[in-house]
Amino acid sequence: MVILPAEGGGNLSEMSLHGQEFHRELTEIAHSEGNVKINIDYARSDVHTGNFDKETIDVADVLQFNKKLSELGGTQAGKLIHEFREQYGKQILRGHFRSAHASGIQAENNVNLSIRSEGRSDRTSATQIFTGPGGTVKNKIIFQNRPVIKVLKQ
Ligand SMILES: [Zn+2]
Repeated sequence: MVILPAEGGGNLSEMSLHGQEFHRELTEIAHSEGNVKINIDYARSDVHTGNFDKETIDVADVLQFNKKLSELGGTQAGKLIHEFREQYGKQILRGHFRSAHASGIQAENNVNLSIRSEGRSDRTSATQIFTGPGGTVKNKIIFQNRPVIKVLKQ
């Protein structure tokens, strides 16, 4: 994947704050030295949204999250920037999962304008908690034996 930063361009201030954060994060990665290679796939039962070791994003999973960035909870743009930032941390900064994933969560928080924390997780599901000005939303993400994850709002 090669993302090239544009010269000049449109008026960023017309975008929502969420959109501006997405642009800022993506531009930062695009301006950095080196290439981040990410596989883009669809409906893989061995990839739940993103897989650190396989360096793969499952777009079918990403689409299960909120399209609207102002809606509290996991968002499509938030998940994408998480995976981009995480692979940047792995492939360019040579970080292990812990630090790379933490930078992915920070990027996700920046785009969502909320704070993600982790709830219960086991072999079948994981719960992510999003806290913002509008309160708290829990996403229970069911992934066992599913090509496409199921996101339950709780
Ligand atoms: Zn991660």
